[in-house]
Amino acid sequence: MEKLFNSIDSSQLWEQRKSEIEARVNELLNNYPNYDSLVPLIKEISQEALWNTYSPEKKQDIINSEEKIKQHSVFLNTLPEFRYALETIHRSTKYNEDATNELLSHENAHMNVAEIEGLKGIGYSITPYKRPSGFKGYWAMAWVEKPPSDWTEEKIKDVYTKINEAPIIYDESGKLSQFDKNAIEKLN
Ligand SMILES: [Zn+2]
Repeated sequence: MEKLFNSIDSSQLWEQRKSEIEARVNELLNNYPNYDSLVPLIKEISQEALWNTYSPEKKQDIINSEEKIKQHSVFLNTLPEFRYALETIHRSTKYNEDATNELLSHENAHMNVAEIEGLKGIGYSITPYKRPSGFKGYWAMAWVEKPPSDWTEEKIKDVYTKINEAPIIYDESGKLSQFDKNAIEKLN
């Protein structure tokens, strides 16, 4: 079989991707966005499950919000990239390796169930923020594609409830975040 990457091996690609991630994370950490300008937006769009029922205007609003969030986030395509970005952030904060593993496992649970239920995973984002009090944190989440246009409202509610409940079964901690609980409540 012919080799696809003759000139550059995969470890070199990985090193290159790691420096890109590190540069992007440092860029964000040097200019923390305000919590109030982003996190409410993130909460809003990630609870927008009933895509199929929205007007074109509302869909456009959501797309605009997603673009704004991406401008202030590092976007990761794979779990190893997500891990590396978290480790890069955690090196300069009080978080430790346990926090990285818990978050990876939690978001991966959501992503696994989305894919089992037929929604393709897009990747993960991390959005650092600073609160008015000066507290610095970040919001991490998994992105999946929008539901297919032939899915009924009932089907969407069922699938998104399963995605939100995923950490109960697929994450060792078995714990949902407050945000997951709110999302489930909103759907049902
Ligand atoms: Zn969650």
